[in-house]
Amino acid sequence: MSDSKQTILITGGAGFIGSHLAELFLDEGHRVVVMDNLLTGSRSNIARFANRDYLFIDHDVTNYIVVDEPVDHILHFASPASPVDYLKYPIQTMKVGAMGTHKALGLAHATGARFMIASTSEVYGDPQVNPQPETYWGHVNPIGPRGVYDEAKRFAEAMTMAYHRTHGVDTRIARIFNTYGPRMRIDDGRAVPNFMLQALTGKPLTVYGDGSQTRSFCYVDDTVRGLVGLLRSDEHEPVNVGNPNEITIKEIAERVIEVTGSDSEVIYEDLPVDDPKVRRPDTERAQATFDWSPQIDLAEGLRRTLPWFQQQVAALSAEA
Ligand code: UDP
Repeated sequence: MSDSKQTILITGGAGFIGSHLAELFLDEGHRVVVMDNLLTGSRSNIARFANRDYLFIDHDVTNYIVVDEPVDHILHFASPASPVDYLKYPIQTMKVGAMGTHKALGLAHATGARFMIASTSEVYGDPQVNPQPETYWGHVNPIGPRGVYDEAKRFAEAMTMAYHRTHGVDTRIARIFNTYGPRMRIDDGRAVPNFMLQALTGKPLTVYGDGSQTRSFCYVDDTVRGLVGLLRSDEHEPVNVGNPNEITIKEIAERVIEVTGSDSEVIYEDLPVDDPKVRRPDTERAQATFDWSPQIDLAEGLRRTLPWFQQQVAALSAEA
């Protein structure tokens, strides 16, 4: 653990990545305050912290934030983050990226806390440069269906730099690429949960388009280690946190079929509007700045993830 005990506020701490971050800090002996309105996060992700040095505040961070104790770090991770979720909650997504980031930065300014924003590879849009270095400005359709998320996060980055430059807030910007692992919602609509659910229930895996579009999937433990590395560095520029191992979506479907031992087939459906054709992080800045690179390969990550989805499927069939 770092030298002294700290208090870390995590907005969105009941979500997938937020709850893994919370657990890491608790394991290190720190205090964690989770703030979440449970729009896409879940109580079951935080129930496991009940007997630890932890507080849950049920609050929508687009409204003024009050925390009745000193905080050392503020990690703003609240946001719908899967395409299905942000298409379902477009206005909440824009509000939490814009007003929520403003409120969280305001608290950091008032308290002197270090601040980290969970940004995203979506700031690169449908990139025309591959892999994407942090110096690439992106190729985003502001008025397309994904614009609500992409532009909210781009605004959040701009606001973060404005608070850093204007008020000297000690800020970090993490551009998080596709991450998978335990605690993903089985119905969040992303590729890995959809394919796991389909493979484990004997249904066809729905590959959108011809499956030649690429992503680079990072196991959650690697992502969280990268985020903490960035937080503890002194880098104010954006840093990509993701796995540079790029594969096609057709291939990830096949890998899920393998790991589950399923005999499901693959079927092809329409590609969503503005679906990026390629995505792969250039991870040199993370490597050079805080000596981070992912350690868990896709086969191992999928093996570690499988029991979670098996439990989720068992829970679904018990309900039915
Ligand atoms: N995808 C797919 N089938 C699904 C869900 C997603 O083929 O059932 C594709 C989607 O079109 C995209 C990729 O998988 O090309 C990754 O999608 P995801 O929703 O996981 O996140 P994104 O990287 O697009 O934010």
